[in-house]
Amino acid sequence: MSLLQQLGDAVISGSLKVVDLTHTLDPDFPVLVLPPEFGQCQPFRIEEVSRYDERGPAWYWRNFSCNEHTGTHFDAPVHWVTGKDVPNGSVDTIDPNGFVRPACVLDFSKEALADADFVLKEEHIKAWEKEHGDIPAGSWVLFRTDWSQRGPTEYLNLKEDGAHSPGPDASAIRYMVETRDVVGFGVETIGTDAGQGGHFDPPYPAHSLLHGAGKYGLQCLRNLDQLPPQGAVVIATPLKIKAGSGSPLRVVALVEGK
Ligand code: MN
Repeated sequence: MSLLQQLGDAVISGSLKVVDLTHTLDPDFPVLVLPPEFGQCQPFRIEEVSRYDERGPAWYWRNFSCNEHTGTHFDAPVHWVTGKDVPNGSVDTIDPNGFVRPACVLDFSKEALADADFVLKEEHIKAWEKEHGDIPAGSWVLFRTDWSQRGPTEYLNLKEDGAHSPGPDASAIRYMVETRDVVGFGVETIGTDAGQGGHFDPPYPAHSLLHGAGKYGLQCLRNLDQLPPQGAVVIATPLKIKAGSGSPLRVVALVEGK
């Protein structure tokens, strides 16, 4: 049997499990809040066009609108000024080869529970690799914090001085990009950077360094607790929005059953 026949059979039989890493798009799902001097993104909005009624007797459909960075979503290199000149850096031009990649899941949920401002550093990744093996080139690094299990208020965790949520520093991102050549970095929180990442050096190191190097981001993931440290394959295909900086998307992972 060919490799793809085996894959198809394994999905149909359930020996390969498909895990949904996506939140439901809903007007109540929190969106990133920026300081008031900046433009703000809109939440997901929906309006009914018809629902088997006088507006359309046999059909149901709706209009929706949202920011490109709403709900579970993909960040393309052009999202950040450092990535503005990356070739094929918008969602419509990215090489689709990068949409299907293995994933390494780094579980720092205990640390994030103890400290909402937990900072992932190079030393943490190296310690993880000692236990689980090196991060293969071209794979996703997914940062498990169990942040997806929080309610909307605790999810943003806004205080007077801004948001408080875990994220990486520059050493962690440089290690992933320069030493491991990952395809991107995915998180359960609303941004790939920590809530206080604007105060890091450089500011917003994940956005700045990942996108400058042509790497991708995934945000607002869930169910990372259902993935093994290594061995899952993630399928993450953003909408093909012309010159898009990102897009909401359905993210699934293939996981070998027991
Ligand atoms: Mn984003």
